[in-house]
Amino acid sequence: MPALAPPRILKPLVSLFYPATCVVCAENVERADYLCADCQRRAPRIVAPFCAKCSEPFSGAITQSFRCANCEHRVLHFDCAVAAYRSRGLVRRLVHQFKYAGQRHLRHPLAGWLGETLNDARLRGRHFDIIVPVPLHSTRQRERGFNQATLLAELLAKSIAVPLRPVLERIRYTTTQTAYDRAERMENLHGAFRLRKNRDVRDLRVLLIDDVLTTGSTLSECARVLKAAGAISVHAATAARA
Ligand SMILES: [Zn+2]
Ligand SMILES: [Zn+2]
Repeated sequence: MPALAPPRILKPLVSLFYPATCVVCAENVERADYLCADCQRRAPRIVAPFCAKCSEPFSGAITQSFRCANCEHRVLHFDCAVAAYRSRGLVRRLVHQFKYAGQRHLRHPLAGWLGETLNDARLRGRHFDIIVPVPLHSTRQRERGFNQATLLAELLAKSIAVPLRPVLERIRYTTTQTAYDRAERMENLHGAFRLRKNRDVRDLRVLLIDDVLTTGSTLSECARVLKAAGAISVHAATAARA
């Protein structure tokens, strides 16, 4: 006979006897924490100066307004895209384990990093009517079993009491984005998203959520669809940025 899992009701009891551990190094942490202080310190933060539009960091002092190489020669339809961390080192590792190894519990530390974007001057104190996750194509979502952006958006929505509204759908199954250079990616995404049936975003201020910003093309294309459907503004926030 296979061993039986403890009944659901015993779970909180079981957790009393096993200490909470850091998701990176397995060091003991406070019950409410997912990362120990050391690992949190090692997560690469994005610090000024960075591009006001897409948060691309620069090294060195920049005193006048500039356009970063990522934004130059292209139209980005979001008002701005904010990330507090770079997708490097342990941040990148956690994102990969979350997305591709199905470790859903990692949504908690990632949502914590996502939530830090709200301390950024571009988002702080701003009112949002709805939170919208970047959708996956239904085929991709079936393969993965979940939409990583939705899991993160759910936690953020709860913590700031803004309604989660998955108003977008992805109607084209695009090949893996990383195989394309920037121009090809933008071309590849055109027409990939649309507003779901019977959804209305007119006169709404949208906070658009994804796990990682790579070039910004996905967020831009979603923002374009939302604004074409009447959204007043679309600010984007991600747990990390390439
Ligand atoms: Zn740790
Ligand atoms: Zn930029």
